Amino acid sequence: MSEATPYSVLFEPVRIGPVTARNRFFQVPHCNGMGHIRPQAEAAMRAMKAEGGWAVVCNQETEIHPTSDLSPYAENRLWDARDIPALRLMTEAVHEKGSLAAIELAHNGHHAQNLMTRAPVLAPSDMSLDAAYPKQARAMDKSDIRDFRRWHRDAALRARDAGFDIIYVYAGHEMTIPQHFMLPHLNTRSDEYGGSLENRVRLTRELLEDTREAVGDTCAVAFRFAVDEVMGTSGMQAAEEGRAVVEMLADLPDLWDVNVSNWANDSMTTRFQPQDGYQNDHIAFVKSVTGKPVVGVGRLTSPDMMVSMIRKGVVDLIGAARPSIADPFLPKKIEEGRIDEIRECIGCNICVMADSVGAPIRCTQNPTMGEEWRRGWHPEKIAPRRDENEALVVGAGPAGLECALQLARRGYQVTLAEASDAPGGRVLRESALPGLGAWMRVADYRLNELRQRANVQIFTESPLSAEQVMELGIPNVFVATGAHWRRDGIGRNTMRTPPVIAADAVILTPDDIMAGTLPPDGPVAVYDDDHAYLAGVLAEKLAADGHKVAFVTPESLVSGFTSLTLEQHRVQARLLELGVDIICNHTLASLEPDAIQIACGYTGRRREIACDAAVLVTERLRETALYDALQGRGLTTLELIGDAAGPALIADAVYAGHMAARNFERPKADVEQEWFRREIMSLSEGASS
Ligand code: ADP
Ligand code: SF4
Repeated sequence: MSEATPYSVLFEPVRIGPVTARNRFFQVPHCNGMGHIRPQAEAAMRAMKAEGGWAVVCNQETEIHPTSDLSPYAENRLWDARDIPALRLMTEAVHEKGSLAAIELAHNGHHAQNLMTRAPVLAPSDMSLDAAYPKQARAMDKSDIRDFRRWHRDAALRARDAGFDIIYVYAGHEMTIPQHFMLPHLNTRSDEYGGSLENRVRLTRELLEDTREAVGDTCAVAFRFAVDEVMGTSGMQAAEEGRAVVEMLADLPDLWDVNVSNWANDSMTTRFQPQDGYQNDHIAFVKSVTGKPVVGVGRLTSPDMMVSMIRKGVVDLIGAARPSIADPFLPKKIEEGRIDEIRECIGCNICVMADSVGAPIRCTQNPTMGEEWRRGWHPEKIAPRRDENEALVVGAGPAGLECALQLARRGYQVTLAEASDAPGGRVLRESALPGLGAWMRVADYRLNELRQRANVQIFTESPLSAEQVMELGIPNVFVATGAHWRRDGIGRNTMRTPPVIAADAVILTPDDIMAGTLPPDGPVAVYDDDHAYLAGVLAEKLAADGHKVAFVTPESLVSGFTSLTLEQHRVQARLLELGVDIICNHTLASLEPDAIQIACGYTGRRREIACDAAVLVTERLRETALYDALQGRGLTTLELIGDAAGPALIADAVYAGHMAARNFERPKADVEQEWFRREIMSLSEGASS
């Protein structure tokens, strides 16, 4: 950086043991559903972070041995030397872009089910698995501990050979053996590895010493440690044992990567934790205890907050997983003073969701995330236009906004028409609901650039008919007209047959409520056959507004999908705290003006819930009228995108808008070919080396 700016401090190099980070931006380990199954995809994704300015780029938890088999999840794997080439793809790609590569060695103990290897499961004490699988872990005896230390040491050497610069010992997220040993609610041993804190920390100390002894003069040794379990006195607390652990091990690692556990507390969604930097209070003490550099996280996207964290001595390195997913070029944008171009994470955890189902990572804000290798997408670069000059995008929801933005970047003259009085579509509507304010960043990021571009015209209050579209004379039309919620109760569990609805029953859809039509005073039933977040949010709003709310769902949990975004337990707790009556495993049978009839999903037994209105959150109907009417009118391009083509997540709408803009004017064969790009395993003999 040539001259001093308010952010210069963020670009100072930081020494980490034998290696040096070129600046303070540190992409901490994060899962991504690629791992050992899709190593080329992971390497390309990590390299993009390095190109975007992250001085240190970590991989994700890396199984060190078949007794830590996380199948069917696609984490990284380093069981033996044959795993080295796949990992080397990443280290070479990251080095090529001038950054350091770090590996998070992990043994997941009773968090691993060993479903593929069928190996015994290891833990400090006999206990159930940390999963709904009826199998128990066995307490590690002394020879297990010796084996574990050897496996970890050997994995560290293999990591060095794969080209990693920083090697982690990992005691966090309640997911690994070193942390399991530290926690008294998991470790009930009476030998020198149990009892006193010193005994419970012994294994971690040994791992740090073993790793240092194995690779210490070539690689830095990092320690990832959850200082607080956020369970109050029931768990480890930063003010007590968390601090004592840091004091005991203060200068043993070359780097402290500190956070809170479990994963749901570490990766809080904005719905339940709107404040960026929310871990600072927990981790701030660490730097006063150790002389070694400290990295911390907490959805850090604001450069001013980052500078203040450095100046106040909270951390030395700015850690990020989600902010680096939403914007791999965040450091570069800060360095170049392009602060308003930062694509801020909205804290929705759709990235986590993908990993939780074993699918490649995706991001609501960054549609290129996970497509760096397969489609060759770059978050900041896009091919210039070819022969066409102009495009019309109808609908300014997430799909239309992203499509318009990328078309504009490609150099087309873009007209964006929106029926309502403000752009944003569903993110504008949903962001007004409790806890979802950050959703609006999806529109804000795109509108910020669209409004500054000379080649873009945005029209609101412009509900276009097919005739009006034809009158505009723009030959390329992208229709992103969205979808609206059904009013007839048809959903996943109604077998395509609507429930019986009395003519005078008061029925509301989410669209009604978001448009300001609220139920009359009195009890309300919210029927959720969507199972994502919206019904839970609406129930929360109605209960907070003073309604007596019954939440009925055919699922066995409230907002079941939110388990995958790490917030289901919080959703259910919030509704319970608000006094919502939760009725699971029931489908909607009929609606009367003063009650709904519901049926048990198992027995079919009926019961009645008294209510003056029902809110039906079931399915959406696509808005295709304009698209249908434009067919056969001789347009060069007519493409239906986003929720109008298939109602789904906001992330899917953004992705669809991006895809349409990228593929505009590309040969169809090239586009089709990309669907088939995948990583095919070569057949091997299977012997270990
Ligand atoms: P998506 O998630 O696919 O972007 P949204 O429902 O968020 O879909 O946004 C669709 C947008 O399209 C809404 O803001 C809606 O007002 C707008 N829209 C629908 N029909 C028309 C139309 N005929 N002309 C202009 N805008 C339209
Ligand atoms: Fe942030 Fe959501 Fe993207 Fe994850 S998916 S990085 S939480 S915006």
